[in-house]
Amino acid sequence: MTGSPLIAIDGPAGAGKSTVSRAVAERLGLERLDTGAMYRSVAWEALHRGVDPADEAAVSEIAATADIEVGPGVSINGADVTHAIRTPEVSRAVSIVAANPAVRRELVTRQRRWAAGRSGGVVEGRDIGSVVFPDATVKIYLTASPEERARRRGHDESADGVATRDRLDSTRQASPLTQALDAHVLDTTGRSVEDVVEEVLSWL
Ligand code: C5P
Repeated sequence: MTGSPLIAIDGPAGAGKSTVSRAVAERLGLERLDTGAMYRSVAWEALHRGVDPADEAAVSEIAATADIEVGPGVSINGADVTHAIRTPEVSRAVSIVAANPAVRRELVTRQRRWAAGRSGGVVEGRDIGSVVFPDATVKIYLTASPEERARRRGHDESADGVATRDRLDSTRQASPLTQALDAHVLDTTGRSVEDVVEEVLSWL
């Protein structure tokens, strides 16, 4: 491995992205960016202001002007939304917000700026290897069986909710969830985090 790696981790809900990206970042001493938290914050802000998530103009205005911080905690316009963005209400609204092309343009710009200010990092989402960082050092597409994914999301989202979100995320016009052609596909079903992390590190 030469230089600082930019590791792109994509996949559907419950595939293990957050756990794996956190563990990989820790092992390599890199920072991690959870791009889903950015889309969730914009969805939360829309709901908080009583704006219809499907109102493209109003929601893109929120995205363009919002002060969003995603680190260990998440805040938008000064409000700590670390936990609030994980509620079923936000999970139901987020895929609609994420299908808005202007919102995507704005957040992708911010994601690239995040990486430009660092030497390497681990970035997780849906379009990281395909759109945001097509030149990432390594691209990983995580999957897991539908049963396992529903079980992992089970605390805060129903199996139907997960399925609906995946369908919307995979079929939207603007950068849908897809496997980049050069991504390593890794099925995490029944595998330990350590095992998955070792495999990811072997690709660097
Ligand atoms: O990763 P997480 O499940 O928290 O993402 C929430 C939602 O944000 C996804 O269902 C998807 O609609 C959207 N998202 C996206 N592009 C990304 C990351 C998340 O569209 N890069």
